[in-house]
Amino acid sequence: MSPRLFHDSQYDWSRTVDSFWETGRGALAPVDAPTLSSDETADVAIIGGGYCGLSAAYHLARAGIDACVLEAGDIGWGASGRNGGFCCTGASWLGPEELVDAYGESEMLAFYRAQIESVRLVDDLAAEERIDIARQGDGIWTFAHKANRFADFVSHVAVLARLGVPARTLSAREFEASAFACSEQFGAQFEPTGFGLNPLAYCLGLARAARARGARVHAASRVTAWRKEGDVHRLVTAGASVRAKRVVVAANGWLPEDLHPTFVGRVLPLLSNIITTRPLSDDELRAQAWKTEAPASNTRNRLAYLRMLPDRRLLFGGRGDTSGRPSGGAAMKALLVRRMGEMFPAFAGVEVTHSWRGFIAATTRLTPALGELPDDPSVSFAFGCHGNGVAFMTWAGRELASRIAGTAGALPAPLRGLPDPFPLPSLRLWQLRALLLRAWFEDEFR
Ligand SMILES: Cc1cc2nc3c(=O)[nH]c(=O)nc-3n(C[C@H](O)[C@H](O)[C@H](O)COP(=O)(O)OP(=O)(O)OC[C@H]3O[C@@H](n4cnc5c(N)ncnc54)[C@H](O)[C@@H]3O)c2cc1C
Repeated sequence: MSPRLFHDSQYDWSRTVDSFWETGRGALAPVDAPTLSSDETADVAIIGGGYCGLSAAYHLARAGIDACVLEAGDIGWGASGRNGGFCCTGASWLGPEELVDAYGESEMLAFYRAQIESVRLVDDLAAEERIDIARQGDGIWTFAHKANRFADFVSHVAVLARLGVPARTLSAREFEASAFACSEQFGAQFEPTGFGLNPLAYCLGLARAARARGARVHAASRVTAWRKEGDVHRLVTAGASVRAKRVVVAANGWLPEDLHPTFVGRVLPLLSNIITTRPLSDDELRAQAWKTEAPASNTRNRLAYLRMLPDRRLLFGGRGDTSGRPSGGAAMKALLVRRMGEMFPAFAGVEVTHSWRGFIAATTRLTPALGELPDDPSVSFAFGCHGNGVAFMTWAGRELASRIAGTAGALPAPLRGLPDPFPLPSLRLWQLRALLLRAWFEDEFR
């Protein structure tokens, strides 16, 4: 069994997530997701009740396949209920040129096409299932933290143009005239594919839709053991079990490495942290020339991501600490408060009402992983969307469901199959620290 990498508190499913979104949970329609209390059978058992697992269940149910989701915490307890709500592309840390070098031109384009489709899928699901996702903005900004990062926008915009997406670049002055004033910005790109949403509202809506289509959804039902009995899997929870011919592993940054040896070391979980301010006044917004509802992030490896929420709170996020301890969370909160004040002087010292964090997941090949285990195709998986999974993991869940239903086309090559495990998996936190040090060096000195 592989040890948990981070502090135990990051795996305490009895703990309520202290996010801004969670404070609004009571106002959202509830999900009927009882704890699994008796032995059940299903065609497909799904580990994880985030976008991936719920989208898989929803699409399986629509295909007439009996699916049962097991979630260790509340529905959306993982990243899906506590993220920044950027519904956008960007599920890989490789740029277009690197993807072409590794996989060829047409596979790079296929991957981009899938990501653009994933954003549209969220919009379509929200419309069809009448999920009030509190959609905000028509596009996503990325702004350069140094003048030399602007060139990356040009190649990115060119790729999107080839796929029919009219993205564009903006000078620093044009960006300020359209978005906001920021002390660290050297021009930007605007990608019209993307928007902001309330991530928890979307996740709960997806769960309700899956239920309404006939899937079963069980919260507070952590899988603690996984046995194969003949060609049937048995997933065991505290008081019961589910027997199924197929299993979908949809746990991303909380990938339970203790349940199946093949998953040991396959992801590098990283903490991402967010703060939200109190609602900002007209004067404060005017001082930063704020005009946009579209989410924005900068080009740092240790990026800052931010959006103005409907009640005019600033949500401001960044990469997290490398321990998961409560003290690490407090230090990250202080760092984010400082960074926010440096980038937006009018918001310096403004009260911060919420601060929280959670796992994203990276893979060794820096692209997400989807498919079935080579030595047991009855086990499907999707993980490793590199911090951008609102849209992509919804798409991945649908893709896994189509593959189980036998209706899927070929996956884009960058996504196909298992990535290599990280070397010396129990030392991944040291690898993460080295990566973050390199990232800082590149951000400051390249
Ligand atoms: C702070 C933060 C900000 C982010 N911001 C954005 C953003 O703005 N835009 C964006 O696109 N992406 C963002 N992301 C990433 C995005 O939220 C994730 O990529 C996405 O939610 C992953 O969905 P998922 O369903 O694969 O995994 P998750 O939502 O993480 O769900 C996995 C679930 O598996 C459950 N689980 C684990 N082990 C077991 C077990 N043994 N038994 C049962 N259940 C188990 C966990 O409890 C968890 O709920 C952010 C993530 C974080 C943490």
